[in-house]
Amino acid sequence: MRDLSKLPKAHLHLHFTGSMRVDTLRELAAGYGVRLPAALVDGDPLRLPPTERGWFRFQRLYDAARACVRSEADMRRIVDEAAQDDAAEGSGRLEIQVDPTSYAPFVGGITPAVEIVLDAARAASAAHGIEVAVVVAASRMRHPLDARTLARLAAQYAGSGAGEVVGFGLSNDERRGDTAEFAHAFRIARDAGLASVPHGGELLGPAHVHDVVRDLVPDRLGHGVRAAEDARVLDDLVGRGVALEVCPASNVSLGVYADDAHVPLRTLVDAGAQVALGADDPLLFGSRLVAQYEAARTVHGFDDAALADLARSSVRASRATAATRERLLAGVDAWLAHDPR
Ligand SMILES: [Zn+2]
Repeated sequence: MRDLSKLPKAHLHLHFTGSMRVDTLRELAAGYGVRLPAALVDGDPLRLPPTERGWFRFQRLYDAARACVRSEADMRRIVDEAAQDDAAEGSGRLEIQVDPTSYAPFVGGITPAVEIVLDAARAASAAHGIEVAVVVAASRMRHPLDARTLARLAAQYAGSGAGEVVGFGLSNDERRGDTAEFAHAFRIARDAGLASVPHGGELLGPAHVHDVVRDLVPDRLGHGVRAAEDARVLDDLVGRGVALEVCPASNVSLGVYADDAHVPLRTLVDAGAQVALGADDPLLFGSRLVAQYEAARTVHGFDDAALADLARSSVRASRATAATRERLLAGVDAWLAHDPR
């Protein structure tokens, strides 16, 4: 069997705080005298019910982790370690997602917060041999005008390379907020050339996917897995070329599916969807990028050729330049051509 950590790939769904190593969180918490909930540091994947209560618990844990990130140095460390861990797993392109709002009070505002992440992404790219670009994400829990402010800020740093903003996202509980009210923010982002990469179709089903497609015109959907419940919605995504950032461990942790086998990876791929596997929040879900490819191999029976196709999909769905994509795609070909015996 070929080594999946050597398979070149792009990682398109990883959150800034959620990317943290457990040891790093422990160190930061100790430094600030913060007592962490055991569920954050026991190393076990979370298992929550797919209810508002479950989501509330997830958010509380997430907030506890976020409360340990209080300085520019902390922020730089997180980006650097995310890049290092991704590179070790064969990722040649990371598009890390950050909502700068929570960190702004510690560094003098949302503009410095974004600039610190971008500068750290540039430095980490040079240090670890991976391209780290950034997705700025708004939250459904805040006012849509906040999202517009973030979109305008993100637009100022639009680009495609390391340390540039490549996309605009929308995260948090899909059951909250009115999707249509975020349309304006996404128009600002798209007009600036940013990819539209909102979350959708994870906690809510095909009707939500339909709304997100109509209102936010996504290039990629964060998750989108529940489109598998309605062939028409799924075919529409495929027809529009909307890629899906599928995060199996996250789905199972948040109770969207009972176990890995129920994640409809096969249905999505067989329908022709462009799938990019992602880890979402390794800190909470207990596994990183390669583990998602391993699940495709061991649980869903993808052979090496099909795994190479998943990696190609991730590269094609990224916002990397043509030169970077060609380099990574050539690497995928070489991985598959190499006989492991
Ligand atoms: Zn996510």
